[in-house]
Amino acid sequence: MIPLIVIALLILGAWAFASTAKKSDSVSACKDVDLVELKLEKFRVWVNVNYRQKFYDLLSYIVMNCPEVKRIDSFNCARIPGYNTWSYHSYGLAIDVNPTQFPMVSDVSKSYGIPDWFLDLAVYAQAIGFTWGGTWREPWDPMHFQIGKREPVRL
Ligand SMILES: [Zn+2]
Repeated sequence: MIPLIVIALLILGAWAFASTAKKSDSVSACKDVDLVELKLEKFRVWVNVNYRQKFYDLLSYIVMNCPEVKRIDSFNCARIPGYNTWSYHSYGLAIDVNPTQFPMVSDVSKSYGIPDWFLDLAVYAQAIGFTWGGTWREPWDPMHFQIGKREPVRL
């Protein structure tokens, strides 16, 4: 007969292993990303070092032309809400502009009006190589600007 303490340790061990595996899984998607901090006026973002110039250009446009922008989110080690894939934010390859004003919705049929100044920003962002989440159908994600062409990205 197996002593109770061994069973307890086995259960505890399995639990600890599961917990560790989950944790290292979430870290592994983000730990090798080289990030750089960009500070422009009131904004402070963490982005992928390989694309620092593009993000700098986009932030410069925002600082010069969009006083309406109050908040920019950047690096965040997380999966895409509703999807089992890592967000481009996990790689420092995306920013969200005024996320409470321009939230993501599940599909384009739930889209809402976008002011002209923000459309101008989206035009500029795309002209310098960003993909705008406002061009996606599912989800429709107008706050979101990312390096890379595909919609919800499978990395
Ligand atoms: Zn985003």
